[in-house]
Amino acid sequence: MGSKADSVVLYRMRKILAELSTKEGSGTELVSLYIPPKKPLYDVSSYLKDEYGKASYIKSDSTRTHVQNALVKIMQRLKLYKATPETGLAIFCGALPPGPDAPSEKPGSETMELYEVIPPKPVPSYLYRCDDHFHLDILREMIKEEKLIGIISIDNSEAGLGIVSGRKIDVVDIITSGVSGKHRAGGQSARRFERLRESEINDYFKRVARHAKKVFLGQDEVEGLIVGGSGPTKDYFLKGEYLDYRLQNNVLTVVDTSYAGREGIRETVEKAEDILQDLRIIEEKELIKKFLSEISSDKGLVVYGIDEVIDSLNKGNAHTVLVSEDIGRTYLRATCKRCGAVKESIITQENLIPEKQKLISEACSSCDSNEIEVIEKDFIELLVDKAIEVGAKVEVISSKSEDGVMFKSFGGVGALLRYT
Ligand SMILES: [Zn+2]
Repeated sequence: MGSKADSVVLYRMRKILAELSTKEGSGTELVSLYIPPKKPLYDVSSYLKDEYGKASYIKSDSTRTHVQNALVKIMQRLKLYKATPETGLAIFCGALPPGPDAPSEKPGSETMELYEVIPPKPVPSYLYRCDDHFHLDILREMIKEEKLIGIISIDNSEAGLGIVSGRKIDVVDIITSGVSGKHRAGGQSARRFERLRESEINDYFKRVARHAKKVFLGQDEVEGLIVGGSGPTKDYFLKGEYLDYRLQNNVLTVVDTSYAGREGIRETVEKAEDILQDLRIIEEKELIKKFLSEISSDKGLVVYGIDEVIDSLNKGNAHTVLVSEDIGRTYLRATCKRCGAVKESIITQENLIPEKQKLISEACSSCDSNEIEVIEKDFIELLVDKAIEVGAKVEVISSKSEDGVMFKSFGGVGALLRYT
């Protein structure tokens, strides 16, 4: 079925959005810039040059300086791009007060920071804003659940086919059954009537299945199907396996409703709301189920724990790495600038600063040099880098669901293996 949203891309976006949404400027001086695909960067630069000129009228000295410095910094950054990236570009820049670890927060201690994001989807339109916060709604919009789900709402008089995406419901097709009522006309034999009715129902179900294939597997391919309706018709329809196997195998749930057809589609969406909100959770459930079943099986094509997973990635026998979104670890690597000796560690958030200090201040154990360079990387990004090298996939698992919490109890990271 349709392409699945990449959990790593979503993780990165959520992380940067969480960070940027905490930033506040001391005045109207934080610049947000969204550049749509194909917009020439020289257009953007000349627009920013104009803004720089206009900013000279800002009364507050510090706000004026901050805005102008931000504009200069953005223009310099744009020069590093040969062309606008395929999905466009988002840049956030401004003078930000020092973080909570810094000793002072007095005015003048701000530093000019620039964040650039190549968005997962095309930027819809050009936006330049200067405000006391960053404008993040356009990026937030991009990471909303956008999978398409098909709805069939069926009873013995009509069937409605609909598509749900996000909060939008489209009624795409209504099929009337033409099936005779339950009561036979005078003079008809009971058997003959039943036979006629059965064949009419059979035709009707076939027709619904044909329309469903066109609607749900055509231009808009759905990720799964929810079937609703009043009475037992929906169950007969599913049991008879009229649907294309791709749809038949992807029925997420079946719900009872009072109506079918157009009204029934809306009712079905309401009743299946939990599932519609948590589609990724369904995928994660499957992954965790696989993980747990491997743990309890004899072959056990699975490992868990930080060292074990890193080891499996280094060996190249992992095919899928599962990691809790809030595992909260950072990878540190200290390299001796003189002899090149490397020291690596993966540590918790609380130990990050002291551990970093320690690595910087300790002399190299091989050559005694004090010139040590330390780099840090988000642990999940480390997994992604290693996974790319061996053709494995990383799945970031939310800790909001019961399954996610269960998975986290194994240390928050595991790998499904190709072989042991
Ligand atoms: Zn050394």
